[in-house]
Amino acid sequence: MTSEDSRIGLVGTTPINVGDITINPKNILTDWVRISLLTTLAGYSFQDQLLVKVFNPSIKDKNSLESFLSYLLQYPAGLPHIFNIKLELEKSCSLLPPPDASSRVVVLASGGLDSAAGLMWALESGRKPMACWVDYGQPYRDIELQAVSQITRQLQVPLECVQVDLSRYIRLGQPIWGHIFPARNFLLACIAAAFQFTGAIHPHERSEVLLCAHEDEMFVADKSARFYRTASEHLKKDIHTPFAAFNKTELLAYWRRKWADTYGLYPQQTVTCYAENGKCGTCKACLKRTLSLLAAGWPIESDLKINPLSDPVGILKNDYLPRFSSFPLKRQLDMLVAFNAGADFLPPAIKEFTEQRISQNSETVELRQQEIERTIIL
Ligand SMILES: [Zn+2]
Repeated sequence: MTSEDSRIGLVGTTPINVGDITINPKNILTDWVRISLLTTLAGYSFQDQLLVKVFNPSIKDKNSLESFLSYLLQYPAGLPHIFNIKLELEKSCSLLPPPDASSRVVVLASGGLDSAAGLMWALESGRKPMACWVDYGQPYRDIELQAVSQITRQLQVPLECVQVDLSRYIRLGQPIWGHIFPARNFLLACIAAAFQFTGAIHPHERSEVLLCAHEDEMFVADKSARFYRTASEHLKKDIHTPFAAFNKTELLAYWRRKWADTYGLYPQQTVTCYAENGKCGTCKACLKRTLSLLAAGWPIESDLKINPLSDPVGILKNDYLPRFSSFPLKRQLDMLVAFNAGADFLPPAIKEFTEQRISQNSETVELRQQEIERTIIL
């Protein structure tokens, strides 16, 4: 691969070359990985013109693809640029190793709860999953890799690691993008799809990529129903999540009842935290995770540095409680179930809030608890 392989054409500035980015293994650099990678870089540099060198320039329905890529980059709201991606595809004469065909179910694994659940869902449904973890320079990469390795070992599932070093773009983009990685899931899906052209040949097996989002987060552009549908159409693969109709609480309740004994894997072996050394107990991810675990009947994790229910940085007091009534009913009820289960750790004002709300809605809360307990995912 040369530095001329793929670039974002920018008038009057230096083009960004895909060739400048370390990608390993190199034979996954398919047309789709090029297009998705350049979309991410366009996100970080607020550019619309993508000149992509591809092996097969006859991509069908370019307009629909351009509109899809622009849609992926419109999240989160309030970015200082409205994307209107234009693709210029040029035939490349670079030679990559010839692709093999393998159609194992590739599960994108992050070391988190949802992807670990996705692996168990795939096993339970009789599929043969392969986990794919992508190191793109995320600050918490070491913790993720440790968790992914442990999870895949426990489940006896093969693990493929891919390195796409985007750390300098992540650093550049962070003030505006924060924890959001522009069009991340499209890049991950394209990388996972590329694996189906490498490795062992099983042409009769289903061609599937699992990117495990759940009901609560399907408002995000690259986890939306439109994302799964359009990405599947363009890549000609079934890119899906088994958990579109379930929230995290329901998923974790099913895990406790069905998967924990069968697979010997526990939520505690996964990581969700935004902090570099994991399980900080103070970030929003740690709080959300703890609330879902409690509502699903799991105990509070003993290895958290701080118990998030003690509200160490005031997320509950200053953010969740003032907005409580605007949350969807299911989320309100799940929070009450969680608060009730962890009441001993709550600050007095939040404990009082919980008692009041539960006494006003005791029947609804109880019905919700029964519903959580009855969740059937497969
Ligand atoms: Zn945390």
